[in-house]
Amino acid sequence: MDRSRRLMERAQAVIPGGVNSPVRAFRAVGGHPPFIARAERNHIYDVDGFAYVDLVSSWGAIIAGHANRKVVEAAAEAAIRGSTYGAPTEGEVALAETIVARVPSIEQVRLVSSGTEATLHAIRLARAATGRDLIVKIDGCYHGAHDSLLVGAGSGVATFGIPGSPGVPAPLAGLTLVVPFNDAQAMADVFAVHGDAIAAVILEPIAGNMGCIPPQPGYLEAVRSITQRYGSLLIFDEVMTGFRVAPGGAQALYGVTPDLTCLGKVVGGGFPLAAFGGRADLMQRLAPVGPVYQGGTLSGNPVAVAAGRATLEQLDGMAYLALEAAGQAIEEALLPACAYHGLSFSRVGSMFTLFFRPDAPRNFAEAKESDTALFATYFQAALSGGVYLPCSQFEASFFSMTLQGDDLEDAIDGLCAALVAID
Ligand code: PLP
Repeated sequence: MDRSRRLMERAQAVIPGGVNSPVRAFRAVGGHPPFIARAERNHIYDVDGFAYVDLVSSWGAIIAGHANRKVVEAAAEAAIRGSTYGAPTEGEVALAETIVARVPSIEQVRLVSSGTEATLHAIRLARAATGRDLIVKIDGCYHGAHDSLLVGAGSGVATFGIPGSPGVPAPLAGLTLVVPFNDAQAMADVFAVHGDAIAAVILEPIAGNMGCIPPQPGYLEAVRSITQRYGSLLIFDEVMTGFRVAPGGAQALYGVTPDLTCLGKVVGGGFPLAAFGGRADLMQRLAPVGPVYQGGTLSGNPVAVAAGRATLEQLDGMAYLALEAAGQAIEEALLPACAYHGLSFSRVGSMFTLFFRPDAPRNFAEAKESDTALFATYFQAALSGGVYLPCSQFEASFFSMTLQGDDLEDAIDGLCAALVAID
């Protein structure tokens, strides 16, 4: 880890904390992060020559395996034709058509460059469409690093125990109401008081930023019906779950259709691309058709679009079967050790979290009862054994459809060995 350590020292002099996104700094688990030199299929390789089975997958962005040949070729061919034109392209239309065909709620879609942008613009659109200002978000859900949603956020914000963020004006933070996940009564209660002023509820249908926490049966349906009753919009943030848990995302898996959906990560095939879309009557309010402004120099970037299309083309029925089979294998292998150590395991398809508490949490308050010190020990043991996990209890693990055979066995062996190490 010598080169990584030296790079971290250099980085800290010129980049705050040495990283370009806080969670990468390993503050929650101690030590310093390996600097990555390259990645291929299920492995990442650091600058010191160590190989790791990758269970982070760039926080869920990679699903077809690292350096997937079809994705790389599509991106390279696009780049050779010019990296950006700031003008419409055929590829954008084709990608939008694929998104509309697969995601039940999306009749029209706009491409943007990050999940943060997607949720920011979905919120603005919801406020404009309803003429209301209040937003309801879920405690522990993370929707990106913008002002309206950096309240009660999970992910890196939770990892560092920051309740909101300095720099977010109090009057703006005050427009965001926070309720617990999986609590339909709390949602009904907040609507009973503020319903007529609530523009939208935004949530991750499967929470991934407090660790992986699936919705309880009936929860999403209840939120859908409450929002409809009060004329508020429902926004599913499927930046993590879109195209990962099913071809149509979590909304297809659970059969609940929101008004607007945010996508990111998988849709860009590992490149900076995200999207938001939904009912045509709402999306038609965006400029240049309507008055709600939204735009971006690199939106629909041709290289990212090519990578996204090449990824989605590979996500057929077989791919989802492979993802589920690998998830099941990991779950079956870990369950006995979880029972022995008093831990719990939570999974939907290819996203999962091992929680250092006896029962799988249903919300962020319960997730925070996990033994994060023990998690750190487990994390370091896994890393030493060649398995790269998310460096926080409050992040989900992700793997690719290529995780099969020896690589899958190595992942399972490494995780089981790390659990032995926490004894
Ligand atoms: N929404 C969810 C559910 C996320 O998990 C994330 C990032 O992890 C975002 C939004 C923000 O996406 P980005 O980091 O691309 O801005």
